[in-house]
Amino acid sequence: MSLLVVGSIALDSLETPFGKKEDVLGGSATYFSTSASFFGPVQLVAVVGEDFPEAHLQFLRGRGIDLEGLTREAGRTFRWKGKYGWELNEAQTLDTQLNVFESFSPNLPQAYRETPYVFLGNIHPELQSRVLDQVKAPKLVAADTMNFWIQGSRAALLKTLQRVNLLFINDAEARQLSGEHNVVKAARAILAMGPSRVVIKRGEHGALLFDQDHIFACPAFPLSEVFDPTGAGDTFAGGFMGTLATSSSGKVDGQLLRKAMVMGSVMASFTVEKFSLERLREVQRPEIHARFNEFKKLTHFDDLGPLDAVAGSR
Ligand code: AMP
Repeated sequence: MSLLVVGSIALDSLETPFGKKEDVLGGSATYFSTSASFFGPVQLVAVVGEDFPEAHLQFLRGRGIDLEGLTREAGRTFRWKGKYGWELNEAQTLDTQLNVFESFSPNLPQAYRETPYVFLGNIHPELQSRVLDQVKAPKLVAADTMNFWIQGSRAALLKTLQRVNLLFINDAEARQLSGEHNVVKAARAILAMGPSRVVIKRGEHGALLFDQDHIFACPAFPLSEVFDPTGAGDTFAGGFMGTLATSSSGKVDGQLLRKAMVMGSVMASFTVEKFSLERLREVQRPEIHARFNEFKKLTHFDDLGPLDAVAGSR
């Protein structure tokens, strides 16, 4: 089944302890759609400016991503400048230039309006809502957001959240959104804002999936080389939503959601190994399968049996 994404397409300038890059391909919709394209068809809604290199569009087309919903407008492409310290877990935003996003109003092609799985990537929450106004009865609406919008457009974000089934958010932003320091309390507070599920991403410490009754934890894949965490969250969401949208049963149950968490972590683990989308450009399906299998070994302990020693003591 198809998957629709709206989000940013960006030219990023990045600084990590391992180097600097200027005006490289980035953006929430870019990472998401590239990651999801390994699973099935993706329809993209976004805007770029006159300065956006054609070669980047060729790359997205080459991945089979449907660009009918992408427009090129007069003006400059969205730009984001970020920096990471040794911790690598949290980006410090140095500059955000909305540029063509300032006057963008998404108009969905007819073919996108009945798409069952919708991902509202990190972008102005009003634009996220405008996309939802145009889709007919989606099966699942997921969204992502960040501190920029939590702080600057909180009221609009809270409105959008009422229409969202699943929110992806990192731990610092979950605290900021909920006003709760404890991650479990923060998740409960977010569930009360509308979504029936929330995924809290914790960088190298993995991700937690919450609904009213359950919590599922998935680690991040332990890597010996982490170069640039930019896009890890969107790549995670792409793997997660790609897994849901292409499931043969079509039933979004606990087992499928756990698999989606693992596939999100698998895909994100590739993104961080190189700058920008460099690693996602070259990764091949057999590597994805191999990492999924390594992930299973990493977390599997069903075969340990019951804890007799503890159960038998006082
Ligand atoms: P992630 O590291 O997955 O959270 O997302 C990184 C991407 O988000 C970068 O490539 C940026 O271009 C993009 N980004 C940063 N700030 C914003 C913003 N305020 N709105 C939309 N996209 C953004």
